[in-house]
Amino acid sequence: MTTLEHSIVMGGSMAGLLAAAALAPHSARVTVVDRDPLPVDGPDAFAPRRGVPQGGTVHRLLALGEARMEELLPGLREDFLAAGAVPRAAREADPVLDETTPNEGAPAAADGPLGADEHDAPGVDEPGTLWITRPVLEGVVRRRVLALPGVEAVQGAVGGLLTSDDKRTVTGVQLRGTDAGELHGDLVVDAAGRSSRAATWVEGLGGTRPRTLGTRVHVAYTCQRLRLREGALPEGTESLSAPASSRRPLTIDLEPCGDGEHVLAVAGTSRHQPPVDLAGLLDLVALQPERELADALDSALEGAEPVGQSSAAKAAGAHRQLWEETTDGPEGLLHIGDSAVMFTPLYGQGMTMAAVGAVALRDMLTDDGADGLAARFPRLLGALLDRAWEITTSRDAQIPDAEMLVDGAVVEELPATGSLVGAGQSTGETHR
Ligand SMILES: Cc1cc2nc3c(=O)[nH]c(=O)nc-3n(C[C@H](O)[C@H](O)[C@H](O)COP(=O)(O)OP(=O)(O)OC[C@H]3O[C@@H](n4cnc5c(N)ncnc54)[C@H](O)[C@@H]3O)c2cc1C
Repeated sequence: MTTLEHSIVMGGSMAGLLAAAALAPHSARVTVVDRDPLPVDGPDAFAPRRGVPQGGTVHRLLALGEARMEELLPGLREDFLAAGAVPRAAREADPVLDETTPNEGAPAAADGPLGADEHDAPGVDEPGTLWITRPVLEGVVRRRVLALPGVEAVQGAVGGLLTSDDKRTVTGVQLRGTDAGELHGDLVVDAAGRSSRAATWVEGLGGTRPRTLGTRVHVAYTCQRLRLREGALPEGTESLSAPASSRRPLTIDLEPCGDGEHVLAVAGTSRHQPPVDLAGLLDLVALQPERELADALDSALEGAEPVGQSSAAKAAGAHRQLWEETTDGPEGLLHIGDSAVMFTPLYGQGMTMAAVGAVALRDMLTDDGADGLAARFPRLLGALLDRAWEITTSRDAQIPDAEMLVDGAVVEELPATGSLVGAGQSTGETHR
């Protein structure tokens, strides 16, 4: 059922691509606009992009994210495997999810590949079943999405919104750069990530700027891809993990990342920043206090060959714009992915919740059409993301020096968000 003529998606990263997949059955045309080129072939198809500086660091896709992406793009798991992803043999202890932060209320984790009961709603903190790098994951999704009928990519930076004369309806976007000009459409989806300027643009149109909630925790990652020697890991082991402890407040992980490579990933928060190069990472491993683990890591890394340079990335915590509270925003504009809610990366929720949002968008269009979408969708999305938001913020609160923020000001405690969806509004019973 096509209800839209032309949908424009600002941002061609995970949220934008998945939103485009969600829109494709409902929109005669979908244009994905990104500052970066979005190649589907050639050597750059699986390469890190400038617009996703975090792309060189470990990105874990939760089981829920896998399931939702598979719903949007059936057969995707096979494509990931064909592109070099490694299936996780079985449920393993996850240093972040299981040790430093208990796996609150998650159902039993899936062993092995997603099977017939893959849609049995895994929890928002259940580890996924694949080892894969972020650029490969995104590259595979990009190839699938841009092959969908009616979906195309345009390179350019969105510099503002086009609107009707009364500014009540968004009618397209203004492009800067090589292909400067105007793109006209009946729906604009803001998937421009944490640098999105949509709130400022909406304010400029006379709408209310949404309230923001957030945490400040300063997370830093350094990752180095490696080729380990044959049999480097202890027999029957596919990864090694050292959770953060009071004696060494950095997590260390050595895990497969596809194509016979492994990645050594070190993450820390606040004052505990990881070293930025391989030599520093190896020194840190040697200082690991638990002797047995230190020996295993040491021996696994002996003779390892670095693949490329190390990658470092930082994040400042979680950030949420409460679009569900605003009632005077323009019609024809939606926010999805990090531009709406950005999760603290430590818990690996961002891509998964982008997929949850995209499936909800597809289902809402299927069930109720496009009328009033700009008002209806944020309420549904907010309700669907609440649980993951609660997990992120409550775990952040346990990190020493963490701060809680409302509209950028430090507060003792964040307000609960579950109550934002009032009685009678959709809470996602039919929209998972
Ligand atoms: C260090 C780090 C580690 C992470 N680890 C994980 C993890 O393990 N698991 C997980 O699920 N998530 C992780 N995340 C989060 C994850 O990267 C994001 O949630 C995910 O990329 C979805 O984001 P997005 O598509 O909304 O935005 P982004 O990925 O930020 O993409 C925004 C896109 O919009 C484009 N853009 C921006 N402005 C414009 C404009 N004006 N015009 C045109 N294009 C524009 C950019 O070029 C970019 O392509 C991590 C994040 C960080 C920072």
